[in-house]
Parts: sequence; C-alpha cells; structure tokens
Amino acid sequence: MKAWIHFLRGFILKILYPVLMLVGAFLKSKKAEFQAYIVKLNNLLVMRDSVNPRKILLLLPHCIQNSKCDVRLTFDVYKCRRCGSCKVKYLIELAETYNVSIAIATGGTIARKVVKEIKPDAIVAVACERDLSSGIVDTYPIPVIGILNERPFGPCIDTTVNLQKVEEAIKWFINHQEKR
Ligand code: SF4
Repeated sequence: MKAWIHFLRGFILKILYPVLMLVGAFLKSKKAEFQAYIVKLNNLLVMRDSVNPRKILLLLPHCIQNSKCDVRLTFDVYKCRRCGSCKVKYLIELAETYNVSIAIATGGTIARKVVKEIKPDAIVAVACERDLSSGIVDTYPIPVIGILNERPFGPCIDTTVNLQKVEEAIKWFINHQEKR
C-alpha cells in the first residue's frame, strides 16, 4: 500500500466526506452527487495503489434481488435458484468464475458483520450513492472499488448493476494478486 494514497484516502474518507455530508444536509439536492464524487475519488485512488489482495469479497445490496423472489439470501447467496429473473444469478457466476467470496447485505450493520466475518483484503461493492460512500468510509483502510447500482424502478427495489463493471473491478484486483 502506497503511503501517500493511504493518507489521501484517509483524508477524503474521514475529513472531506463528513464535511460534504454536512454541506449536503443543507443542500439536499446535491447530497447524492457529493456521495458519488467520494466513491469516484476513492476508486481512482484504490486503482493507483499497490494492493495484493488474497481474499476478495463481492458485496451486494439486498435490493438487487428480484422483489418477487421468495428465497432468503441474506445468510447464503448460494440459496439462489438461478432462475435468471435478477442479476444475482449472474453475479454468483462471476464470483464462481473468479473464485471470490460473495454476500448480500440488507444494510450497513449486516455489511459490517459480513466484512468482519469474511475479513477480505479487498472489496468490490455494489450499492446506491449513500450506502456505497458510507460503506467505503466504514471499511477504510480496506481497498474498495465501488460500483453504483442502477435503479430503473426507483430506489431500493429491483435494482440492477452493469455486470461488465463488476467483472472489470474483480479482474483489476485479481491482476494485482497475480503480480505478487
Ligand atoms: S436469480 Fe436467484 S435471487 Fe434472482 S429471482 Fe432468481 S432465484 Fe431469486
């Protein structure tokens, strides 16, 4: 880990982020924009760092599961029947292809619990601006590449994600594994 990146990420996540959230409390229409900006800055820095992750976690939000699906995935994503009605099927396939851990979190508390249990060296996280930025702050200094979800039906329901972006992020960490 490069010291200057570690320092700069710390500054952005622990100082700039709370300042922007304070400003966002007054400028509510700008809050999501600020959060997306933090995620973008974080990703840029993580991808300039020298990381050697042995264990990678793909962390997904609960809202990516089809809202009509009755399978409970919170404690075991592999209970998914892989019907293909939502992206969970394809994200599991990515996790299997690249041999990375995969988990679904219903909120920040569960996400923190999952990270504590799996103890990943690097995380590819999918979520909305709010959960992604706060999750990246919470898990610092673990390197996280954050990918914003897509919300064709509005927030928190039947969300989706660009699979190519997820795959690229996993591959980025894996390529750095191979350089060890
Ligand atoms: S792919 Fe899995 S999680 Fe999605 S609807 Fe089908 S069984 Fe449910």
